[in-house]
Amino acid sequence: MLDEIRKDIFERSTIVSTSRSKRPGAFLDERHREKACPFCPGNEARTEKTLLALPNEKQWKIRVFKNKFPVLHTRHFKRIENDFFSKYTPAGSHEILIETNKHDHEYFNMTEKDIALVLEAIKHRYLDLMNIEDVNYVAIFKNKGERAGASLPHPHMQIIAAPLFPQAISEEMQESENYFKKEKKCGECVMVKEETHARKRVITHNKDWLAVAPFVSSWPYQTTILPRRHFSEVSEMTDGEALNLAKVIKKLFHGYSKLFDDPPYNMMYHNFPGSDFWHFHIHIYPRLVTHAGFEFFGLNVVIVSPEDAAQTLKNAIR
Ligand SMILES: [Zn+2]
Ligand SMILES: [Zn+2]
Repeated sequence: MLDEIRKDIFERSTIVSTSRSKRPGAFLDERHREKACPFCPGNEARTEKTLLALPNEKQWKIRVFKNKFPVLHTRHFKRIENDFFSKYTPAGSHEILIETNKHDHEYFNMTEKDIALVLEAIKHRYLDLMNIEDVNYVAIFKNKGERAGASLPHPHMQIIAAPLFPQAISEEMQESENYFKKEKKCGECVMVKEETHARKRVITHNKDWLAVAPFVSSWPYQTTILPRRHFSEVSEMTDGEALNLAKVIKKLFHGYSKLFDDPPYNMMYHNFPGSDFWHFHIHIYPRLVTHAGFEFFGLNVVIVSPEDAAQTLKNAIR
């Protein structure tokens, strides 16, 4: 078993986690999977012990526990070998957040209140994990469906606490910082104003949030959800904002399910601890197409215009 974080001289990093190959379906397809769902109520003993249950442990709707096959799991972050190739201990934590006690529910058939409960659980775990020594970043994301990398169908999210910033976050941070230094204001705050004004890429909105098909999209029907108020971490969201975010999520996924029959997708919460130039946001990437060789160069070809995608989604949720 080989579990370590690697870093090269260009500051590129990767996590080698061979223990992950033991997780259900790592190299198998759906037909070989076991029938009973370990994430359903009654099967709690088949997972690690409960870290958080809402509204209560006996009749939970949300349940959080440690991943049996964690990507990161040691307490301290330290260098293992001192040679040209840097290796570090796989420090951090990897949790599973079960979003509903119903095996076949998705955001579109959950109540707004139940989605808000998911957001409350995220806030709890985010704050707890950010307090751990050697943890610098908490990644919150959801993979839905096999095409998006989910190994089990029961609705769940993953929360990974890591000692380093993921590359996509570092890159976005750099872009935001550059803009902030040049223009002395948050770029996303400007984006919220411009998109609200332009309207053609707005899918749904309310007094606290805006869901848009980004002007520069990499995937068809990709969306970004942004708060109108500037804050940088999910933990700063008020209860009122959480309920209004739940409303936007429900609407958006109602659109996705109506158009694409409950499609596979990846959903990422982009936080950055206490920053004037980082604006909290959520990315959603429906996995309707696969990316090919050219996209690996980082120049994407998107076959539906963001304006058409926004209009189609808007019509679907009307
Ligand atoms: Zn289940
Ligand atoms: Zn902002």
